[in-house]
Formats: sequence, structure tokens, C-alpha cells
Amino acid sequence: MRTVFTTARLVLAVVLTGAVVSGCAAATATPGAATRRLDVVTSFYPLQFAVSRIGGSAVRVSNLTKPGAEPHDLELSPRDVASIQDADLVVYLGGFQPAVDQAVRLGSPHALDVAAAAHLDLTGTGEGAAASGPRPDPHFWLDPTRLSAVAAVIAGRLTAVDPAHRDLFAKNLGVLDADLAALDREFTTGLASCSNTLLVTSHSAFGYLARRYGLTQHGITGLTPEDEPRARELAAVATLVRTRHVRTVYYETLVSPAVARTLARETGTRTAVLDPIEGLDAKSAGPDYLSVMRADLATLREGQPCR
Ligand SMILES: [Zn+2]
Repeated sequence: MRTVFTTARLVLAVVLTGAVVSGCAAATATPGAATRRLDVVTSFYPLQFAVSRIGGSAVRVSNLTKPGAEPHDLELSPRDVASIQDADLVVYLGGFQPAVDQAVRLGSPHALDVAAAAHLDLTGTGEGAAASGPRPDPHFWLDPTRLSAVAAVIAGRLTAVDPAHRDLFAKNLGVLDADLAALDREFTTGLASCSNTLLVTSHSAFGYLARRYGLTQHGITGLTPEDEPRARELAAVATLVRTRHVRTVYYETLVSPAVARTLARETGTRTAVLDPIEGLDAKSAGPDYLSVMRADLATLREGQPCR
């Protein structure tokens, strides 16, 4: 009896020492695999945000799209591909980043495609989208209620992979959901009375946001920022801006503002930065999804303008 007790105490001491030495907060007191954090790979920032918030201290998240990089048409290094193969879970949006789709197909035992949960039921709007064909609009995260639906699916999968942390994931999901619901209410109230409901943006990233909050988006380019608008399309947008008395043309952080500035100069409107939250960096208006969304709301309220 005494020997067993001593042995148990010794094991516990070793486990505790190991946790301190490694500098990592052991998630449980069970030695072995259960003390290891889950390695989760996400493909771009809003998914990284959701996984980090839900997984908390039980996960280690690495993001394939580096800060300040543009996630459309991401290219993967051999190291990125290896990280996809080795991950406990890969969370990505199928159809958004072809290189990620391909790497997951080649070999990833645990991958979660959030496309179904995101309900990508918009296709490209605006002239620019016509050139690139009817692809689903990937930018679901700019509608907080869609991000909330995706978060629920992420929590479910994390729980399936790591059932020992069921309670932690459920609690964190509850807090995240409350944050997203509060954000949704702020947008609903903040955009309820705008002088102008036409939203002219550089790339067509704000379709889900526009639909949720009673605006109409017209993108100068299509769903991908690199889509080059043709002269005829630019002239059509300029006419739209004039006839609909648009005051502000929005451009964004990760792509060149040249086209939006040209349009604004031609039509005598002003420009403002609206962040599609595809990747954050030091120039972002805030440290996370929630703060940058609130900055976007303030920009929209001033630009449309809204009472
Ligand atoms: Zn985009």
C-alpha cells in the first residue's frame, strides 16, 4: 500500500517537473499523449482566430497564411505541406485556396472543411466576377453569424479529436458565441439608418456582410483581389458611383489601392480603408477579428454615412 502511494507520488512529481521544465501548461495531469497540446493547422486568419478562441490552452495553432500575406491563391512550401500531413487537425475552407485543397487531398488524416457550415450561397457580384466565372463567394467570416456557425462545427471536431477537453471547448465556444452575437447586434444597430446603402469596394469581399445588414455591394474587381478590372467595367462603376451619389470608395489593407484611388479621383469621392480580415499584421486596425470588425463598422458608418 505504502509503496503504491510513493510510486504514484513520484509519477506525479515527474509529470509536474516535466510541465515546468517544458514551460508549457500541461492540459491534464495524465502523463503521455494527453498532456500534449493538439497541433492544429489553419489555412487563413479568421479560422485561426476561431480555433485559438475555442481550443484555448489545449491547442497550438499554426496558420498557413502568414501575417500580412494575401490568402487568395496561397502557395505552400514543402514545410507547410509537411505541417498539414503531421497535424492533429487541419481547418480550412474548401475551394478558397487550391494549394491547401490539394495538400489535404494528398494526405491529411484529420481535416475539417468548413465550407458546408459557412453556407457559401453567394456567388461573385459586380462586373469583375463575370470574367472569372460563377465561383462561390468565400468571405463568410465578414458575417459574424456565419463565423458562429463555423465555430460550432470546429468545436465539435476538436471535441471528437480530443474528448478529454470537451468542457473547455464547450465553455470557450460559449464565450466566443456571445462575442459574435454582440458584434452582430452592433452591426445591425449601426447600419440600420444609412443615407446610402450601396457599398463600392475594391474586391468583392463584403457580399455576406452587405446582405446581412441591408447593404448592396458592388466590387470594382471580382472575388479575388488580383482580378484586374477592364476599362469598360471601371467606366460602369464610375457611372454607378455618380448616379447613386456614393460618397466613399473603399479599398483594403493587403492589396494596392491604385484602382480605388483612380475611381475616387474620377468621380470626386473619397476613399477609406475597409479590412476584409483575410490576414492581420501590424498595420491592421486592431489585434484580432473582433476589433478589426468594429473598426470596419466605424468606417462604414462614416462612409455611407449612417445615423
Ligand atoms: Zn478576398
